[in-house]
Amino acid sequence: MKLGVFTSGGDAPGMNAAIRAVVRSAYHHKYGVVAILSGYEGMLKGDYMPLDLRSVANLIHRGGTFIKTARSQDFLQAARRKDAFDKLKQEGIDALICIGGDGSFKGALALHEEQGMPVIGIPGTIDNDIYGTDHTIGFDTAVNTALEAIDRIRDTANSHSRLFIVEVMGRNSGYIAMDVGIAGGAQDIFIPEEANNIDACIQSLKDSRSRGKQYSILVSAEGQKPGRAYDLCEAIKKNTGIDAKVCILGHIQRGGSPSARDRVLASAMGAYAVDALSKGYQHHMAGVQNGQMTLIDLKEAISKRPRMRQDKLQLARILSV
Ligand code: ATP
Repeated sequence: MKLGVFTSGGDAPGMNAAIRAVVRSAYHHKYGVVAILSGYEGMLKGDYMPLDLRSVANLIHRGGTFIKTARSQDFLQAARRKDAFDKLKQEGIDALICIGGDGSFKGALALHEEQGMPVIGIPGTIDNDIYGTDHTIGFDTAVNTALEAIDRIRDTANSHSRLFIVEVMGRNSGYIAMDVGIAGGAQDIFIPEEANNIDACIQSLKDSRSRGKQYSILVSAEGQKPGRAYDLCEAIKKNTGIDAKVCILGHIQRGGSPSARDRVLASAMGAYAVDALSKGYQHHMAGVQNGQMTLIDLKEAISKRPRMRQDKLQLARILSV
């Protein structure tokens, strides 16, 4: 069997470790591997690079994706997907491993349903917003990167007795904000899954100030409108007179060397994906649930949303006095 592996959508730390695991597990199964460069863009152009054991050496610790990633408007058209499939067949590729988020999985599933191409997905996105897995590759690193920034901001917040609002990544999901908020001791956390309760936040700030708390950190996910931390800042100023400082962490959360946890997760998922193809699975995603590797149907993975854990939300609020 000859496998095509590609990364698609936003890059995430640990993608290289997953590619390495795919190549080395494929070697174990005596399969060949070809990288498809720049996601679906490269698939449409027939932009391939053969990968052997040595081509994935010295990569496990590197962020980003050495086979590049991209977003492709063309791939949204069924006719262009047929062109991509024809190119894959010309190259002799029998099955695909797609490392990316739910958009990438939609494309992979379409290719399977329309052309019969076997595909296995590996969830690689810092947002952790994929149904069917407790963690996605890159999430742990992104949380740790943001946390390091918050710890630094805390020094200044404390020294100047100031309120800081830190905006982290997460357009549709508040997983990064939730974990960073809990681990960084935030006074309040704003996530897209919940309507902003600015009144409650303002009350909590007033209460904590009256108890003698002199500085606080609020964590906000960017939501659909990056920069919304400035709106929060204005609302707080208007209602309390407190002049908060805003810090938007932005793309520094996407890159960097993957954490040990992401490297282990990526290694396990890469190997599991190859194993799944060897067993005849054709439209599934490798995931981890309660510490166990699992496979779920791609259709289920893309049609459901993971639920924000209410116990975490509650914990964050109890500890935020
Ligand atoms: P991230 O979570 O980092 O944004 P993602 O995989 O969700 O990653 P998207 O930009 O949503 O990123 O999708 C990547 C690519 O997948 C798109 O540019 C497009 O080429 C393809 N894709 C997305 N949705 C579909 C779809 N419904 N049908 C076919 N292809 C799709």
